[in-house]
Amino acid sequence: MANPRYDIVIVGSGAGGGTIAHALGSTDASVLIVERGDFIPQEPQNWDPEAVWKDLRYRTTERWVDAGGREFRPYTHYCVGGNTKFWGSVMYRLRREDFGAVKHSDGVSPAWPIDYETLSPYYDRAERLYEVHGESGIDPTEPPREPFPYPKIPHSEQISRMVDELCAQGLHPSPLPLGLRSPGEPGGCILCDTCNSFPCQQHDKSEAEVCCVRPTLTRPNVTLWTHAQALRLRTDAGGRRVTAVEIERNGEVEVVETPLVIVACGAVNSAALLLRSANDKQPDGLSNSSGLVGRRYMAHLATMMQGFNPFWKNRTVFQKTVAINDFYLSGPNGRYPLGHIQSQGRTHGVMARTVATWMPLWAYNAWVARGSDWLAMSEDLPRADNRVTLETDGRIRLAYRPNNIRAHDQLVEETTRMLNRLGFSLVMPHSHQTQNTTHQCGTLCFGTDPRESVLDPYCRSHDIDNLFVVDASFFPSSAAVNPGLTIAAQALRVADHIKETDLA
Ligand SMILES: Cc1cc2nc3c(=O)[nH]c(=O)nc-3n(C[C@H](O)[C@H](O)[C@H](O)COP(=O)(O)OP(=O)(O)OC[C@H]3O[C@@H](n4cnc5c(N)ncnc54)[C@H](O)[C@@H]3O)c2cc1C
Ligand code: SF4
Repeated sequence: MANPRYDIVIVGSGAGGGTIAHALGSTDASVLIVERGDFIPQEPQNWDPEAVWKDLRYRTTERWVDAGGREFRPYTHYCVGGNTKFWGSVMYRLRREDFGAVKHSDGVSPAWPIDYETLSPYYDRAERLYEVHGESGIDPTEPPREPFPYPKIPHSEQISRMVDELCAQGLHPSPLPLGLRSPGEPGGCILCDTCNSFPCQQHDKSEAEVCCVRPTLTRPNVTLWTHAQALRLRTDAGGRRVTAVEIERNGEVEVVETPLVIVACGAVNSAALLLRSANDKQPDGLSNSSGLVGRRYMAHLATMMQGFNPFWKNRTVFQKTVAINDFYLSGPNGRYPLGHIQSQGRTHGVMARTVATWMPLWAYNAWVARGSDWLAMSEDLPRADNRVTLETDGRIRLAYRPNNIRAHDQLVEETTRMLNRLGFSLVMPHSHQTQNTTHQCGTLCFGTDPRESVLDPYCRSHDIDNLFVVDASFFPSSAAVNPGLTIAAQALRVADHIKETDLA
């Protein structure tokens, strides 16, 4: 029997894959989306902190190894929609400065091959697609932009009071840009306390399954295979074109032929797929003439910070509405950037207990009821030896040593000071450190020079004409805001380019 053939094969259905599937599904091309996971069922466990945080019900059971060969269970999810199913839906544009070279205390964050103005119209489109709510003109670091397509999510009474106090501290708090569907309206998002890190039981979170994959599947030319893991890409004899994708599906290996492959497995898995696809012509992995496949992995330095006040009761349900970017471009006493601060979704006792298991749950519940939750996030710089490789048995090895630590420590200090002034006398920081793979990026960076990058500025492989990569791998620097909107915007830009070139 002949192998199946599609005009386009997209591997992965998350922020990058789901968005580009939506954009290319509107053409006449036959599109196959290959997703190794399944749909997340809508079930009571979606919003159950015990199921999500104690049983890790939706997290992959796969194990990766670190630089020292120790196994760990990465914080990542294989399902339709990818990690967007679990995201906090904070949908930021990079700051204009992030597109240029930026000096940090620990080195230079390299320039992107495109500027903010190039991506700006695609940010507009991505914000409409993902129904982003916000208010422009308040954040001092905001790049030039049109008004948000949807109004900001109002702060709770307690957060409003904190915002006033933060302004009195001389800071410039701004509304967090959030992708939510019909918040507060009948039948829409109920602004609950189980959003960030939980799937939405009502499908009201703006994520790739709901905003992109489901709508595009209504078209007759788009097909989705779930439980379908791409194992390898095959090339022609010259090694310049991909000819087919080998896919493990229902225990069988199937070969799908195609003239155009778009890889979007997430930064770690996309690099692993190219490395696994090594052949006689490209023994170090596909598209690896630069030697950079898998290198320059970045992940953000992120510290969860809970301010505690024994005389205060947290009555806010939906808490994730405010951001502070006063230290984004420079710290209070120095010239180097420190990063970004945002309020977080409510911590539940079960979640706190995963950090230290010795205290009884009631004690954690009492603690988190008097706590206010924040996140301090700093830029991670690209280093060649922070990288993805494969073990001889095929497992993923992720060697990662965080850098820019001084800047992050300073940001944590500033956040602590800020929370102390808000009346939280005790501030508890917590970080997943080297095993935080949630904001993974940078393993297949884009650029103009094939010796210094894996992809061109349209995310086309420098080495292989009909291969694109549209997930977080293409980031040459990580910036210090959440990556999702930028992944989606670039996927829309790449889709336009494909329509004008390969599909024309
Ligand atoms: C708890 C949590 C909260 C977050 N909050 C935010 C937030 O508020 N804002 C934000 O911008 N970002 C947030 N992020 C990060 C964001 O989710 C990711 O940056 C984004 O999803 C990455 O998009 P991607 O396309 O690179 O990969 P993913 O979205 O991870 O998609 C990759 C897809 O490829 C599939 N896949 C992998 N390998 C294969 C294979 N070999 N064959 C077939 N399929 C494969 C996976 O199953 C997955 O569906 C959060 C992440 C987590 C985990
Ligand atoms: S109802 Fe709204 S706040 Fe709750 S999980 Fe869904 S999208 Fe998030």
